[in-house]
Amino acid sequence: MKRLLAIGECMIELAPDAAGKFDMGFAGDTFNTAWYARRLAGDQISVGYLSAVGDDEPSHRMTAFMEDAGIKPHLAKRVGRSVGLYMISLKNGERSFSYWRDSSAARTLADDLTVLPDLQAGDVAYFSGITLAVLPAAGRRTLLDVLSKARGDGIQIAFDPNLRPRLWSDSQTMCDWIMQAASVSDIALPSFEDEQTFFGDTNPAKTADRYSAAGVTTVIVKDGPRDVLIRYAGREELVPNDPARTVIDTTAAGDSFNAGYLVAKLQEHPDASAVAEGCAVARKVIAARGALVEV
Ligand code: ADP
Repeated sequence: MKRLLAIGECMIELAPDAAGKFDMGFAGDTFNTAWYARRLAGDQISVGYLSAVGDDEPSHRMTAFMEDAGIKPHLAKRVGRSVGLYMISLKNGERSFSYWRDSSAARTLADDLTVLPDLQAGDVAYFSGITLAVLPAAGRRTLLDVLSKARGDGIQIAFDPNLRPRLWSDSQTMCDWIMQAASVSDIALPSFEDEQTFFGDTNPAKTADRYSAAGVTTVIVKDGPRDVLIRYAGREELVPNDPARTVIDTTAAGDSFNAGYLVAKLQEHPDASAVAEGCAVARKVIAARGALVEV
């Protein structure tokens, strides 16, 4: 059986319903990818999630949510801590997000990490720039060292830079760590608009150049409604992606794309068709409200 292990922070989500009351759910970029991957993968792929939680009721509920979704939790337990939380506010149809995650247990996920659980050569470990952003500098170093060692053992490391400057002390620190993360990764899944803003790339090929130069073997450059660029084995290809006619909510577009792509990769589909699977899943996700929607 092949395995996908996503690494990062899952949070409690409070989202307003039509009457203005709040529904509680669970979400977070790498967790969303694990959740979609579980839905898309057949019996031949197992999906796990590596993070840390506390010992309180919200932490138990989060663990149970993962188990009920068929995702194997690899959660370090931190006594006295809890999980992070975010709340979505709606004002005149515009969504805004407030976060309470400064002391969440997930910030300690790398504290005693020495090896990635359950993975063998050919499996995939997936993390993001948000995973790195929430860790202290020592935790970032530990995680990248563990990933680098796993890569040496033949595990494929997949990375979505997911640039979120507000989670970092400054943009330069963010960009430095992102490129260090790239240097331990086989697959990078950047979104062009963010990369253009923070790295000054003038087109998606420049983004691919930068990740290739860092040692990434397969670069997939997402670009919202536009075609997706793949750079691999010295070749470049554009996979067609038609703009969606209705966009309801783009939350988790990139996360679900990554799930579609990574599951297809684990099923040994060629890269171009794996990218097309990513586009097909993201298209369904942006046509519905919420981070986790049935696909
Ligand atoms: P992120 O959500 O991470 O910023 P993008 O905006 O680049 O990422 O979108 C990720 C993927 O979602 C795209 O590669 C594409 O497959 C799909 N997507 C996003 N917006 C649209 C759209 N308007 N029409 C069609 N596909 C879209």
